Amino acid sequence: MTQRITHFIDNRPADVEGSRTAPVYDPATGASAKEVILAEAETVDAAVTAAAAAFPAWRDLSIARRQAILFRFRELLESRKDELAEIITSEHGKVVSDAAGEIARGQEVLEYALGFAETLKGDYSVNASTGVDVLSFRQPIGVTAIISPFNFPAMVPMWFFPVALAAGNTVVLKPSEKDPSASIWLGRLLAEAGLPAGVFNVVHGDKTAVDALVGHPQVASVSFVGSTPIARYVYETAARNGKRVQAFGGAKNHMLVLPDADLELVADAAVNAGFGSAGERCMAISVIVAVEPVADALVEKVRSRIATLRVGDGRRGCDMGPLVTREHRDRVASYIDIAAQDGATVVVDGRGIDVDGEAGGFWLGPTLLDRVPLTSRAYTDEIFGPVLSVVRVESYDEGLALINSGAFGNGTAIFTNDGGAARRFQYEVEVGMVGVNVPIPVPVAYHSFGGWKSSLFGDLKAYGRAGFEFFTREKAVTTRWLDPSHGGLNLGFPRNN
Ligand code: NAD
Repeated sequence: MTQRITHFIDNRPADVEGSRTAPVYDPATGASAKEVILAEAETVDAAVTAAAAAFPAWRDLSIARRQAILFRFRELLESRKDELAEIITSEHGKVVSDAAGEIARGQEVLEYALGFAETLKGDYSVNASTGVDVLSFRQPIGVTAIISPFNFPAMVPMWFFPVALAAGNTVVLKPSEKDPSASIWLGRLLAEAGLPAGVFNVVHGDKTAVDALVGHPQVASVSFVGSTPIARYVYETAARNGKRVQAFGGAKNHMLVLPDADLELVADAAVNAGFGSAGERCMAISVIVAVEPVADALVEKVRSRIATLRVGDGRRGCDMGPLVTREHRDRVASYIDIAAQDGATVVVDGRGIDVDGEAGGFWLGPTLLDRVPLTSRAYTDEIFGPVLSVVRVESYDEGLALINSGAFGNGTAIFTNDGGAARRFQYEVEVGMVGVNVPIPVPVAYHSFGGWKSSLFGDLKAYGRAGFEFFTREKAVTTRWLDPSHGGLNLGFPRNN
């Protein structure tokens, strides 16, 4: 029997009879034993109304009591995270160890957010003017909406909701309809930890739900993560509706390899960063920019490593799992044809590989393309799959100019043993997150995450101090306790003296 995945509103499952549904697949088998209910505007309204009703009491709860609930959530998550990793693998396809990795990175944000009492301490200036003190502090903004992509069903929501909740806001999360169960599991765990009803809600859905959220008058902010066209649309629509908005978009991350780099380490890093999670990571390396004369040797080292990878069901100890859906697999595979037609060399073709998994799974093996023309869509488009391209340049300057000419600015890395070159790169490159001999430079929780250009629409990054700024607004209070010396009339603009 098909399992129905329902919304989670007011700490309860909310099934809606007769609603539209979408199938949820196990990508390693291709079977669909679940369907997710897709919300109409009325269901979104019910979730936002619940969150709005819960807001005043949650905002007013003491720091100590809010902290206690979130600490309890952290302990529950720590003890049951293996269960969550299995759920992620069964709907996303990534191998279980990788699912555990995304939970660990989400948990880091939760642990950072638990220090909110320190982070949100206000400022106080005594005697700013004679007898006048000024106090400023930050307050929560209200109902916050989070709209997340399929590729990190636990981590991406956890970039936002621990910070939003710690700061005293309530949340409506709209996860990807492709792997919706992780969000429900997190909602149940928050409820078990003692989070009051309505403080954290989940609505499933597609564009209809997103449009209802970004247009809802009681939603104060929107945190979106997904592809660039939708990020731009959500940014523009939410901003037009007066919301605070941060919309994280797609990526095309380049790894610049200088001739002095250790090519063995570079090849390991390129394979790990290119094919981990089957390339379905916004911080995946998708282009190696090899500064000659190293390209031939590097291509060979990457090729030989690919030959050792075991592709298959993520529950069987394989290195790389399937792609999320059949359509996505077909779309990613189509770029291999595009690259070949445009003149690239297909060094390793991931189509039709042998896998340790069911024949119906959404398989595509690691693919290596060399000499990819810069005009090819295989170079310019975000592919979001296990396809690693190599382009060859003659100098650092040519490589830097290439990276800076791209539409995206999410992540990049330089591999070199030359500290001076690395220092120049980190300064000159127009990308928001940079690795020096680190291929996936996702910042730790107390620094903030976010790209530049078409990878982030909005002013504030995720988590870290920027996250707390996003989920709060500052108030400044000027106080004077009157005594008889303050008498008298003066209609001029107040001056400090
Ligand atoms: P997506 O844009 O298709 O979907 C993201 C969210 O938007 C989902 O919740 C989806 O239901 C919703 N959505 C889809 N179509 C919509 C529409 N027409 N109108 C309104 N909402 C819509 O992205 P995806 O395929 O789930 O995720 C992969 C993308 O996310 C990649 O482009 C990847 O680079 C990006 N991503 C970026 C980051 C980052 O931090 N910059 C992180 C993770 C993923």
